[in-house]
Amino acid sequence: MQTHTIHPAESADGHRHYHGKGIVHSIESCGTVDGPGLRFVLFMQGCLMRCLYCHNRDTWDMRTEQAQVLTVEQVMKQVISYRHYLRATGGGVTATGGEPLLQYEFIRDWFAACHENGIHTCLDTNGYALHYDAILDSLIDHTDLVMLDLKQIDPEIHKVLVGIPNTKTLRFARYLAERQQPTRVRFVIVPGYTDDDRSAHLLGEFIGDMENIETVELLPYHELGAHKWELCGDEYKLKGVHPPPKDTVLHIKEILEGYGKNIIY
Ligand code: SF4
Repeated sequence: MQTHTIHPAESADGHRHYHGKGIVHSIESCGTVDGPGLRFVLFMQGCLMRCLYCHNRDTWDMRTEQAQVLTVEQVMKQVISYRHYLRATGGGVTATGGEPLLQYEFIRDWFAACHENGIHTCLDTNGYALHYDAILDSLIDHTDLVMLDLKQIDPEIHKVLVGIPNTKTLRFARYLAERQQPTRVRFVIVPGYTDDDRSAHLLGEFIGDMENIETVELLPYHELGAHKWELCGDEYKLKGVHPPPKDTVLHIKEILEGYGKNIIY
């Protein structure tokens, strides 16, 4: 992974200049599912997790032919043109992916520029932070809402479902709690992997005391990204797994409400 970010510098004209570049998979100018209100969404390239149900399989590699390398200025030019729509709906910008934390310095610079323009910022992440340093701290300072995917608290099932341990994600969740960072947890209900009572209770126990977690969003598994696996020459291993029944989702909702959390479904 390579980003080329340099700290924002103030020049003689009194304006900040951002020299960093981000490797971007795609841009959605009016997203409706990645945070409150209408969102300008940047899908970042690169992810080190390997979720069996990944619906953005084509974002995994950091460098691909279709990726765009953009500066903060280039992105902001677009954001500014939409800012009235974003503000009018209580929206803002969202960094997602792929995994935006892999390019955390670029995202920090972008979010700082958004804050200078009074634009709400949201970080949609799997919590895979590689470094705990001043850049991460200042990224979180410039993040209004974190949407954190907690895929499975049981370490063994997590390894099967996501391909790697959940240690980094759980550490990041605790870091956010220590900082009292407003956070929405996202939990994907995957039949056979996360749709059982035990998984819901483990999640409830883990986040129960975290006062920074305002809501938990339940996302029933869907197969919509399966075709991208084939386009990438991979086998989609969850073939034949179907979305969970509504009753299952409502049951998990009830369990999590028992831990005092506000559930979005
Ligand atoms: S964390 Fe997101 S982008 Fe990465 S593999 Fe999982 S679903 Fe795909």
